[in-house]
Amino acid sequence: MSAAASSPLKTLQTVFGYERFRGLQAEIIEQVLNGGDALVLMPTGGGKSLCYQIPALLRSGTGVVVSPLIALMEDQVGALLQLGVKAAFLNSSLDFQTQREVESRFLAGGLDLLYVAPERLLTERFLKVLDRVRIALFAIDEAHCVSQWGHDFRADYWQLSLLHRRFPTVPRIALTATADERTRGEIIERLGLTEARVFCSGFDRPNIRYAIGLKSNPRQQLLDFIRREHEGDAGIVYCLSRRKVEETAAWLCSKGLKALPYHAGLSAEIRQHNQRRFLLEEGLIMVATIAFGMGIDKPNVRFVAHLDLPKSLEAYYQETGRAGRDGLPANAWMVYGLQDVITLRSMVESSDADELHKRVERHKLDAMLGFCELTSCRRQTLLHYFGDVLERPCGNCDNCLNPVQTWDATEAARKALSCVYRSGQRFGAHYVIDLLLGKTSERVRSFGHDRLSTFGIGRELDDQQWLSVFRQLVTRGFLVVDWEAHGALRLSPASRPLLKGEEMLLLRRDDAPKKVASSGREA
Ligand code: ADP
Ligand code: ZN
Repeated sequence: MSAAASSPLKTLQTVFGYERFRGLQAEIIEQVLNGGDALVLMPTGGGKSLCYQIPALLRSGTGVVVSPLIALMEDQVGALLQLGVKAAFLNSSLDFQTQREVESRFLAGGLDLLYVAPERLLTERFLKVLDRVRIALFAIDEAHCVSQWGHDFRADYWQLSLLHRRFPTVPRIALTATADERTRGEIIERLGLTEARVFCSGFDRPNIRYAIGLKSNPRQQLLDFIRREHEGDAGIVYCLSRRKVEETAAWLCSKGLKALPYHAGLSAEIRQHNQRRFLLEEGLIMVATIAFGMGIDKPNVRFVAHLDLPKSLEAYYQETGRAGRDGLPANAWMVYGLQDVITLRSMVESSDADELHKRVERHKLDAMLGFCELTSCRRQTLLHYFGDVLERPCGNCDNCLNPVQTWDATEAARKALSCVYRSGQRFGAHYVIDLLLGKTSERVRSFGHDRLSTFGIGRELDDQQWLSVFRQLVTRGFLVVDWEAHGALRLSPASRPLLKGEEMLLLRRDDAPKKVASSGREA
């Protein structure tokens, strides 16, 4: 392109037809334009493509884009051709003749952008072609594919570090929507991007109001929430199991709402039919497992509700992110309880994954649980997790709108922990709570637990309050749930300082009369 005199902003306006840059686009483009490396973390839809397309147009030579998804490659190239950009792709979908044609255009310097599948790029033959061409930059899209821990791992991506060794003067820009610390570290390490500037932004979805409350009667809570705030709106309700999806959809229908089920156990026709109705009709509620949502682009989804906890904050962010794409106010609503914690922890522990993967899963789940129990701004924490920064509390999450009360639970926690210990670390929360409250039963007597020193030492709280204490002790890792022993609670090493009175503990007060909801109004 005859761009010698052109600036990034001019290119944005004349080639792409946009007024101004979004977020960090201008800075990223500047960095690459100047020959530096960049790692770009931006959510889907954030505008990553321009970050390499514009420098590719402005630097001399061809921008070589590594992309693992054939369909996306073709879409992008199609869109670029429409804009008059000289773009092409090379992947296994092309016949031999066409491949050769693309290659000779590339060799003749006739391309601004060339999209290549990684396995193609890495062939010795193609690397030799690269040696003979002027390369403007390498863009590595979906860079999280280098992560062994992600779901999109691709062995080919590991080899991409050779680009730097072989073409040390060509700037590289790696892009991904996955921004957790570990993945970021892996990308930097595996792709040799230690010199790269890291750009992370655009994760905030300010129009989404986050609210997480405690489960008491979840279906009814959901219904109340929908009736109170979303009469006639389109929304998505996520459940963990297919059965629960079916039951919840049927129940909502019986209450006069328009709800449809969606899960992988339904036939392809039914799924397609329900999905189409959701997209085309107004005011439908899709009750679904996580099978639903990929590639669903309905701008006016007004709420996303979770009746079960997602496994990670990434999943939570992605699922709630389907609300309010149009920028208008939307709600991310969720209820959870001790049982969710136990279920998810057991799912991690009983999975077939090896120990290393389990450790990662545990870590992610802990972050999710910590997020639930949070007493400060949820958006700040969520963005922080993705490496994005929000200077001040957002004013648009439940904790901001309705500040959480905390209480000094040091003494209660010690009582709870010692009661778990004295009764042999073989029982679930409900049983231990009975002991704390001094409730006798056949079972209690048969173990002789009515004679424990901790029997009846917790009468100052009621069973709901104790449940709240136990839930928080489990989510914070002071107590461990032994899934092999039917949810028996054990002390973790972290509980020791608490037990010995060396540490104090503030917990959320759950029993305040507060509805899970998004509105600031107290209910
Ligand atoms: P990502 O690759 O991060 O998922 P894309 O690069 O596909 O996102 O961009 C998402 C959408 O935003 C596209 O339709 C793109 O044209 C548009 N877009 C990107 N940057 C801008 C901008 N500065 N102004 C207006 N629209 C933009
Ligand atoms: Zn907030």
